[in-house]
Amino acid sequence: AQAPQAYDPAAQAPCALTRGDEPLSPPWTGLAAYRAQGGYALWRAVVAGQKSAEEVLSEMEASGLRGLGGAGFPAGRKWRIVREQPAPRLMAVNIDEGEPGTFKDRSYLERDPHRFLEGALVAAQVVGVSAIYIYLRDEYHGARAVLQQALAELQDFANESSVGALPPIILRRGAGAYVCGEESAMIESIEGKRGEPRLRPPYIAQRGLFGRPTLEHNFETLYWVRDIAQRGAAWFTGFGRHGRVGLRSFSVSGRVRQPGVKLAPAGITLRELVEEYCGGMAEGHTLYGYLPGGASGGLLPARLADVPLDFDTLQPHGCFIGSAAVVVFSQADSARALAHNAMQFFAHESCGQCTPCRVGTDKAAHLMGLPGTWDHPTLNDLSTVMMDASICGLGQAAPNVIRCVQRYFPEEVGNPGDAS
Ligand code: SF4
Repeated sequence: AQAPQAYDPAAQAPCALTRGDEPLSPPWTGLAAYRAQGGYALWRAVVAGQKSAEEVLSEMEASGLRGLGGAGFPAGRKWRIVREQPAPRLMAVNIDEGEPGTFKDRSYLERDPHRFLEGALVAAQVVGVSAIYIYLRDEYHGARAVLQQALAELQDFANESSVGALPPIILRRGAGAYVCGEESAMIESIEGKRGEPRLRPPYIAQRGLFGRPTLEHNFETLYWVRDIAQRGAAWFTGFGRHGRVGLRSFSVSGRVRQPGVKLAPAGITLRELVEEYCGGMAEGHTLYGYLPGGASGGLLPARLADVPLDFDTLQPHGCFIGSAAVVVFSQADSARALAHNAMQFFAHESCGQCTPCRVGTDKAAHLMGLPGTWDHPTLNDLSTVMMDASICGLGQAAPNVIRCVQRYFPEEVGNPGDAS
C-alpha cells in the first residue's frame, strides 16, 4: 500500500481562474507572497484607525457587492444592519459550497486564502465582531489543509507584529449536508445541533449564532473586500455587460471545451461565456440548454442563451443565478433526466423538517422517474405546495426544474397542460 502523502498546495493543478486568457493568480499564495503584494496593509490601516470603518463601509456600499453564496443581499447594507445591533456580535462564514456544479469558493480558497482572511478581518473590525466562525465543507480536505496553514501563518504574523490581537477564529467542519449551506441551518450546525433551517424572523442579523447578532457571509463575498476597499468601488463597478455591474465567478461545467472558474463581467450571456471564456462547446456537441444556477436555479433552453446572467435577470424565465454554477448540456443530454436527477438529489438532501418538502420532493422524484408522459396535474400541485409552504429555499426552489422542463422542453415530457 502507498504511504499517504502530505498535502502540498504548491503541487496542485495550475490555477483555473482566468479573465480571458490571463491567469489571475499563481497556484498558491502563502503569507510571504501575499504580504509582498501589499497584503494585510488594509487590515492594519483599519485596526490603527488610519482608514476609518465608515470609509470602508461606504466603499462597500458604493461597490454594490452582493452576497455571492446565492442570496444576493447587498453586503455593505448587511454590515451596517449588523453593526447597529447590540454587542457582542459574531461572524459566521459559509464555505459549505454544496450546490451541485459550484466550486468557485474552493478554487479561490486553495489558491489565495489570505485574501479571504483579510476580508474577514476587515469586516470583523468594521462591524465590531468578537469572534469569527468558519464553516467549511468537510469534503474539502485540501482546502482545509490550506486554510489551517494560512490560519497558523496569520497567528504568527499577528504575534510578531504590532498589529494587535486577532479576534478568535474558529474553524468548524461541516457534516456533509446540503441544507447546511442555508445560513440558519449552518448556524444550528455550528452550535452543535442538527442542521435544520430556522423560521424567520428573527433574522440572523438580529439573533443568529448563539443568540447573538451575526454577520453571515459566503466565502467569496469576503474574498473581494480587500480589492474593493483598496482599489475603490469604481474598480468593481467598472466591470459589467448588458447594463449589469460588477464581477461574477462562474463555475462552468458540462459540455464545454474548457470548464473551470471563470471570472467574468456580471450580465455576460451564456453564449458569450462559452465562446469567450470556455473555448466554445466541446467537440461534437451543440448547445441544447443550461442550468444557470446549479440544481436549484432551473434549466434554460439554447434559445435563451443571450439572456444576461446576473441576480434578478432570470426570474422572468423561471430561473435564478444563485451561486453562478453554470452547467452546459447538449443534444447528447436529456433535460428530463437532468431534472429527475436534481429532484432525487433534493429528496435525498431534504432535512425532513417540513412536510411539503419532505414528501413533495420524494413524490415528485418518483413521478418524474416514471416512463412516458409526466403526470403534469399532480406535479403542478406538488410544485405549488412546495413553493408556497416550504420553510427554506431547498423546498421552495426544488420545483424550478419541473416547471422549466414543462415550459422549455415539453417535447421530452408530453403535454404540459397549463404549465406554460
Ligand atoms: Fe428542511 Fe426542506 Fe423544509 Fe428546508 S424546505 S426546512 S430542507 S424540509
